[in-house]
Amino acid sequence: MKRRNFVNSLIASSAVLIAGNLTVSAAQYVKKDNPTAVALRYVENAEQAERGEKMGVPGEEQICANCRFYKDPQADAAGCSLFANQLVPAEAWCAGWVPLA
Ligand code: SF4
Repeated sequence: MKRRNFVNSLIASSAVLIAGNLTVSAAQYVKKDNPTAVALRYVENAEQAERGEKMGVPGEEQICANCRFYKDPQADAAGCSLFANQLVPAEAWCAGWVPLA
């Protein structure tokens, strides 16, 4: 491979990596008017929701951070299996909440 081709290939690879990172960092938080969010009574702050006991867990203990669908329990915000390619805050909640296994 000629030097020029190698450099062009390196630049193209870097652009792909940068584009990939932009995709991750560009993830949007779930919006309140998202139809799934509305249907599941999603709130950004779980304390704003009326949460009943579910599977033995009192409502006041239910937040995204301890939900089975939350993708990174250590993060302040992460993806949720019910909201593809979007973020939810750790302290959010929706009616789809299910305890960690
Ligand atoms: Fe949060 Fe779980 Fe509802 Fe997703 S399914 S928004 S992680 S409570």
